[in-house]
Amino acid sequence: MLKGRRVIRGIGVSSGIVMGTARVIFPGEKKVPEVAIPPSRVQAEIASLERAVARTVEELTRLRESAGKRIGGPVAKIFDAQLLIASDYEFLQQVKEQIVSRRRNAGYIYSKLVGDTTLQLRRSPDEYMRQMAVDIEAVAKRVVSHLNRHRRRPQVKFTANTILVGKLFTAAEVMNYRNLKALGLLTNEGGRNSHMAMIARSLMMPVVVADFTWSDVSNGSRIILDGTNDVAIINPNQTDWTDYQKLRKRQGPALITRIKKLPQIPPVTKDGKEVPVAANLELPGPVEDVLCERRIPIGLYRTEFMYLQANHFPTEEEQFDYYSRIAEKFAKTEVILRTFDLGSDKFKEDGLLEREDNPALGLRGIRSMLEMPDIFKQQVRAILRASTGGNIKLMLPMISDSTEVDRAKKLIALVKYELRKERIPFDPDMKVGIMVEVPSAALMADQLAKRVDFMSLGTNDLTQYTISADRNNQRVASLYTPYHPSVLQLVKMTVDACHRAGIPVSICGEVAGDPLALPLFIGMGVDSLSMNPAKIFDLCRQVKKIDSNLVKHLVGSVMASGSPQAVIRKLQSYRSALDKN
Ligand code: PEP
Ligand code: MG
Repeated sequence: MLKGRRVIRGIGVSSGIVMGTARVIFPGEKKVPEVAIPPSRVQAEIASLERAVARTVEELTRLRESAGKRIGGPVAKIFDAQLLIASDYEFLQQVKEQIVSRRRNAGYIYSKLVGDTTLQLRRSPDEYMRQMAVDIEAVAKRVVSHLNRHRRRPQVKFTANTILVGKLFTAAEVMNYRNLKALGLLTNEGGRNSHMAMIARSLMMPVVVADFTWSDVSNGSRIILDGTNDVAIINPNQTDWTDYQKLRKRQGPALITRIKKLPQIPPVTKDGKEVPVAANLELPGPVEDVLCERRIPIGLYRTEFMYLQANHFPTEEEQFDYYSRIAEKFAKTEVILRTFDLGSDKFKEDGLLEREDNPALGLRGIRSMLEMPDIFKQQVRAILRASTGGNIKLMLPMISDSTEVDRAKKLIALVKYELRKERIPFDPDMKVGIMVEVPSAALMADQLAKRVDFMSLGTNDLTQYTISADRNNQRVASLYTPYHPSVLQLVKMTVDACHRAGIPVSICGEVAGDPLALPLFIGMGVDSLSMNPAKIFDLCRQVKKIDSNLVKHLVGSVMASGSPQAVIRKLQSYRSALDKN
């Protein structure tokens, strides 16, 4: 083993595999020095603060425009939050007042007040609050750097194949580093819903968030960053390097090119059974464009991202425009729009939902929507209005019992009634389905299946709730696996219940795109699989190796396993046998 080899397990918040050289961006800026200023300089100091803020606003506006051109308008709204922060009148007044009363330099006062504000936010268990702290600090960095113009750092230059390693990256930094051709990011901070992760996914830049220390990695270290499998290897040995080279070769060309090639590899099993494959999407961007061009259906559109990247709750008209654009794009195939899966940790407007100690087990998904029927009805109205082309389906997240389905359907019926009265067109037969991601829903899938048009297994949440292992907590990452026999039992129960009721069932959790699980899901008779677009190409290539009749026999033996490890071993040996044939 090479000295210094480190395998860092984390969470891949943007998928893809890159191999290169680490460039460490050291955490934190140097503290702004405190400088006493004479009374005669106070007004000049205030004037430089105003100039620095104005420049920051200009920069952010330009950034928003360029993000809009590169990725798409809705994603560019991520920068609106920073623009609002930069022009916060009350905060600037406070800074000015303190410059006058304390007679200290603007940079010092500004950073001090920002530090006081973000200290609490950073510690918050609430992801939205932590994101706000990141945005405030990103703005502060710009303002202070304008104040210290003469000391601004020159633009960093990278060699080819640079993978950046840092404590935290902002959305703007991701855009900037991508422009500078950085390959990927390894970072300490940022969740899947952080602005950094959203921008990185839109730009197809792999990112792994992990708990590592600065002694694990130094400038110039070789590094393999695998956002698809949640791992980074620092100073990999030759075997790691060649294995990953092979893996990348097996995966073939870049994502967009791979998706373009999809029509050449139809997902049909050896014995001619079609396994429909769809994509999961969150935001517009180049991936959405190419999926639409190739007519790949969308099995899960996570609509809450349109809210998460904006700075206000989208109005009905904004939502209507958003969904109509999607409906139009995917007119030749189909899109499943999942209604907002929002919990108290994600609502930005104060007072909408009380903060909770444990949002994952709180008012999330359909629960919060039923608590706020006006918001739910507004979304349903916008979706129904966009449904006139007949290619939209609506899916309800986090269903845990049949009353939730009944209540949601009643509200949908009410919205239809109102639209009819207003003579607003919509598709009266729009299909309504549910996600099965709570064990209670899987256990009573028979009753639920009678009430809906389709079901989709959200195995990401189903796994965390079945095993009681937080999907975002790296410390229990070794427990969190969809290959746990109990999770697979719940998947099978749901599939069987749907088939008894004569409705289709899909899987849209991450495991849907895992070639290892594919024979099992085909054997269970899952009707379609919806996955991260990065996984579609590889999966389609696996389908043709499988005989749909033979894999039926695999199900029983895998389900009888006593541990996730045993499940994985059986599936691995099945796969090796397939690869040999
Ligand atoms: C899931 O839980 O498996 C799922 C697809 O939903 P999300 O990942 O958005 O929670
Ligand atoms: Mg889920």
